[in-house]
Amino acid sequence: MSPAVTPEELVDVAVIGAGSVGSMALWHLSKVPGLSVLGIEQYGRAHGLGSFAGESRLFRMAYKEGELYLPLLTDARRQWLELEKEADTQIMLQVGALSIGTETQPEMIATRGTIDTFGLPHRYLDTEELRKGFPQHDVHNGDVGILDPCGAGLRPEVAVLSALRLAEANGVRMLYRSAVETVEPGDNGVTIRTARDVVRARTAIVTTGSWATDLLPGVRDLVHVQRLALSWFMPTDISRYLPDQFPVFMRDIGDVHFFGAPSLDGYSVKVSPGHLDLPTAPTLAELPDLPNDFAPRLAAQVTDFFPDMNPEPVRLTAHHEMFTADRVPIVDRDSTGSVVAVAGLSGHGFKLAPTFGRIARDLAVDGTSELCPREFTLAAHQERAALRPWRGGQSQHIS
Ligand SMILES: Cc1cc2nc3c(=O)[nH]c(=O)nc-3n(C[C@H](O)[C@H](O)[C@H](O)COP(=O)(O)OP(=O)(O)OC[C@H]3O[C@@H](n4cnc5c(N)ncnc54)[C@H](O)[C@@H]3O)c2cc1C
Repeated sequence: MSPAVTPEELVDVAVIGAGSVGSMALWHLSKVPGLSVLGIEQYGRAHGLGSFAGESRLFRMAYKEGELYLPLLTDARRQWLELEKEADTQIMLQVGALSIGTETQPEMIATRGTIDTFGLPHRYLDTEELRKGFPQHDVHNGDVGILDPCGAGLRPEVAVLSALRLAEANGVRMLYRSAVETVEPGDNGVTIRTARDVVRARTAIVTTGSWATDLLPGVRDLVHVQRLALSWFMPTDISRYLPDQFPVFMRDIGDVHFFGAPSLDGYSVKVSPGHLDLPTAPTLAELPDLPNDFAPRLAAQVTDFFPDMNPEPVRLTAHHEMFTADRVPIVDRDSTGSVVAVAGLSGHGFKLAPTFGRIARDLAVDGTSELCPREFTLAAHQERAALRPWRGGQSQHIS
């Protein structure tokens, strides 16, 4: 059990929310000599209720979202390997990432553009090469493939647990099962209140994911939350879908976006939809569950891409994520300098979690981070919102 914190004590940095980004920020902060660090999490250590839940996440280097992310992805890849080494646990499955679509599909054009601009390692596959190399997919006439050899599958729960264990071993104190109710910036840092404790900190890092609107009024007009689903299906021959043969994948046909990962349990394969118009809401508390007809709608489409899958999802889980209008994350320090916010990771943030954690550490400790582009700041988000007003409510792609 962590030692208690008293209201008289002033900790250097408190991290609120020990999920994807919070756990990584705590891991990075735990390596700064002489810094007192406290983590506060509403649930237990590496629970199943955050946006990181669901067995696997995609890591991609050939990023269709564009050049803004390339320095971050390069850093993140390094950090994932470092975390694996320190934790002595496999977190990143280096299986490559395969994109499938027609040559004119916007996602394929954008992925190709990033590869060509940055000279990234890749393999382009024509229809026949794709059919031969990856017979698990039902390749339609006109489909081509892009293999990103630096792509990977990440194990999110293992990653969060590893980062927290390392942080705690390095001396970070944690308050688990403590929901923060208020964060009040003052003259000399911030006062953080839970139902049980009052914590004073020089700086608070708020990484509360889909709950961000509860503690960060400044983000409320810039985000919405969305219901997302993950699904797993059973193929006839599971041996073809194990990590040694089956890269993580994304498949785009018009507005249809499927993504998935190799079998990690030995009987099912993750094939999940990133479309199908799922509910959105201004806050997590208002977010409706998956619609009742979701499983049959999903099953009807899966057989188009994987004819040998039993069309009934053997696992179907409901998740949530906070989005910004243009899917660019919010990472910033407020005007008092005592609150650092990371929010709105928009369905593609897990792969960058160790880098967001590092940026949050730098903003909290040094006041600045060379890795953080201006596009991520609240001011930049507000400027873009003024130019292109957004009502939210539109379901968006993930992975
Ligand atoms: C289904 C799905 C698939 C995805 N696929 C991919 C993918 O393939 N690749 C990719 O890169 N990204 C993907 N993403 C996105 C990625 O998982 C998220 O962007 C990321 O996990 C968000 O991290 P976070 O730290 O903001 O939130 P979380 O990981 O949810 O962490 C927030 C933490 O804050 C805690 N908390 C909240 N409020 C309080 C409070 N008041 N007091 C104390 N603690 C609090 C929560 O309990 C939680 O632990 C996917 C997301 C989903 C949902």
